[in-house]
Amino acid sequence: MVEQTEKTTTGGAAIRLDAVRFDYGDMAMRFDLAIEASSIAAIIGPSGAGKSTVLNLIAGFETPLSGRVLIGGADVTHAEPSRRPVSMVFQDNNLFAHLDVAANVGLGRRPGLRLDAADRQAVHDAIAKVGLAGKEPRKPAALSGGERQRVAIARALVRNRPVLLLDEAFASLGPALRHEMLDLVGQLQKDTGMTIVMVTHHPDDALRIPSTLFFLENGHVAASGPAGELLAAKGPSLLRKYLGSQELSL
Ligand code: ADP
Repeated sequence: MVEQTEKTTTGGAAIRLDAVRFDYGDMAMRFDLAIEASSIAAIIGPSGAGKSTVLNLIAGFETPLSGRVLIGGADVTHAEPSRRPVSMVFQDNNLFAHLDVAANVGLGRRPGLRLDAADRQAVHDAIAKVGLAGKEPRKPAALSGGERQRVAIARALVRNRPVLLLDEAFASLGPALRHEMLDLVGQLQKDTGMTIVMVTHHPDDALRIPSTLFFLENGHVAASGPAGELLAAKGPSLLRKYLGSQELSL
């Protein structure tokens, strides 16, 4: 008999923003970008450039004025967030203080926490995958900042969505922990085939794991390509200018 193990995700999905226009008052944005299925995209750029807006447009928390949002080839421009094949992890991980690790992860599976055996297995597997096996009974207060973000990632994993969005998810962690989390993200991507889109204030995050870089400026993608090439000494001058004020710590 072949043993049945549950796949953690259904693989990755390509993402496209096709001539997407979006305005916040005076700030007119227009995004054209394509992220390959099962790749890691790093979105960088100055504060206010539109990085979070791109994630919100993909997740469905914002709707374009015009243009299309495609995920896995399907037009989701007007789909509710819950109907999109997407999970999102924020800097503030939204864990419930009164629930233990297992329950916080279980919420990703069933909002009412009525978990069947397959759900409990998925929770168990996700907790092991993020390196928290044995810590299931702990409450968030008894975890480090890095461990809390691991719980948030596990909660995203049990949702089995092909796209994972990270909105400055590791910004509050010190460099060593941040690197550890990036390594975990790289490993999870390999294991599951998910498409990962991460917004970061640290350009060197994109060098830590193989990523395609999208450099945003003033509400549009000003440069994109393999992170190693764009961030190299001979990279585009607009990126050199931006990086001038940043310290690469790899
Ligand atoms: P980033 O993530 O790169 O810092 P954002 O996507 O958060 O940029 O914001 C892009 C632009 O939209 C900024 O000029 C910001 O001031 C503006 N903005 C963001 N959210 C809102 C909002 N809720 N209301 C009005 N303007 C907003």
